[in-house]
Amino acid sequence: MDLQKLAKEMASCPCGREHKIGIDAVGCAPGLVSDAGSILSSLDFPRRVLLVADENTLSAARGVRESLTDAGFILTEKIYPDLRHADIERVNEIRGLCGDVWGVISVGTGSLNDICRYASALENKDFAIFATAPSMDGFASDTAPITEGGFKTSRVAKQPRILLADSNVLADAPAILKGAGFGDMMAKYIGLADWRVSALYSGEYYCERVAAVTRGAADACLRDAALVQKRSPEAAGRIFESLIMTGLAMGFTRNSRPASGAEHMFSHFWEMKKSLRGEQSDFHGRQVAVATVMCAKIYNELAGLPAVSFKKDVFDAAGVRAAYGEDLYADVLAMNEPDMITDALDTEAMGRGWAEVRRIIREEIPATDVLVNAMKTAGAPVGPSEIGVSDGEAELALRYSPYMRRRLTLLRLMPMMSGVK
Ligand SMILES: [Zn+2]
Ligand SMILES: [Zn+2]
Repeated sequence: MDLQKLAKEMASCPCGREHKIGIDAVGCAPGLVSDAGSILSSLDFPRRVLLVADENTLSAARGVRESLTDAGFILTEKIYPDLRHADIERVNEIRGLCGDVWGVISVGTGSLNDICRYASALENKDFAIFATAPSMDGFASDTAPITEGGFKTSRVAKQPRILLADSNVLADAPAILKGAGFGDMMAKYIGLADWRVSALYSGEYYCERVAAVTRGAADACLRDAALVQKRSPEAAGRIFESLIMTGLAMGFTRNSRPASGAEHMFSHFWEMKKSLRGEQSDFHGRQVAVATVMCAKIYNELAGLPAVSFKKDVFDAAGVRAAYGEDLYADVLAMNEPDMITDALDTEAMGRGWAEVRRIIREEIPATDVLVNAMKTAGAPVGPSEIGVSDGEAELALRYSPYMRRRLTLLRLMPMMSGVK
C-alpha cells in the first residue's frame, strides 16, 4: 500500500482541511509472516517488545514469533487462551507488562488490538499490528472501545505506527470473520449517503476527496464479493487494504463520517440491548451487514418518492423510553436535550432539496438486490434472525437507534417526512 502516493493525493485539498496520515507503513503480501521481523527492524521498531496474541491468532500467524526473534527482537509475551472482550482489566494487565519494553505488537484483530492500542497510548509505547483476519475496519483507528463496569465507551488510543498482514493468513481466516469484514465495508455506501444528506440539509462539513477514498474502497470489495470465501490471497489482501483505507479516511476528517452512518447505530443499539440482558453479541461486521441491508431497502424506496414534504420534528419521548428502557433513557435523552439536532433545519428548504437527496441515494447506494446477493455470496448475513436479533428489536433499531447520538442521517429525518411510515 503506497501511503506516500495517498498523502500526495490528499495534500492541499480544496475542502480546506489538512488530511494527515498518522501511520508510517502498511505491508500486506503472501508469505509476509516470515518477513515481519526484518520489516519492523528496517522501520526502527524498538528491540524490546511485548507480543500480545491469543492461541488462535498466534496459530494463524505461525512463524511470526520466530521471524521477530531471528531479526533480533527481545520478546516478552502475553498469550491469552481466547480473547473476545476488550475490558479495562485486560488493558491494565497489558500496562503491567509494559515496564521493560518499548514497543507493543498485537497479533490478531478486534479486541486484542483494542487493549493494546489503549495500553500503548497510556504507557506511551510504539505500537504495531500484525493482522490475522480482515474482519472490521478498526485497524488504523486511533480510538478503542473499552468496557468498564459493564459500559462500553470509546477511548482515545494510539494508531499503530506499522500495520502488517500476510495475505495467505488473511485468506485462511475463518469464513465468519471474512464475511464480517465484507459487511463492514458495504456499510460505507449508507454512511456516504447519510453524510451527503447531512451536508445538504444542515451544512455539515463534507469532503468529496475523502468520500472518494471510502467509495473506491467499498467498490473494490463489492467487485470481489465472489472471491471473499474462495481463499484468495489477492482478494483477502484487497479487502484488508480497503478496511485500512476507510480507517485512514476517518483520520482525514477526524470523525467517523466517512465510514459509518445510520447502520452502525443499529449495531450499537443491539449490542446495548444484548449486554443489558447479559447476552453475547454477534461480530460487529455481521451486525452492520444486516443493518446495511435494512437501511439500503428503506433508502432505495425513499429514492422512488418523487416529492416529500417535511414537518417540524417532535421528540417521541415515550417511544424512546420504551425502546431503550429506564437504565439507558437518561443517556439517550442527554443526546436530544435541550435541543434536537433537527431543530435548526429549514423544513421548506428540505422539501425543495428532495430531488438532490434522491440523486445522492441513487449515486451512493447499490440496488437492494445487488447488495443482498453480494452479502450472501461473501458469507455475510442479511436478516436479523441470522445474528440473533428478533424482528421486534430490528424494528426498534430502525425507529429509535438514530436518537443514540447527535448525528444527522436520512433515517433520523424520517419522522419529519409527511405521510412516510
Ligand atoms: Zn478534503
Ligand atoms: Zn464498522
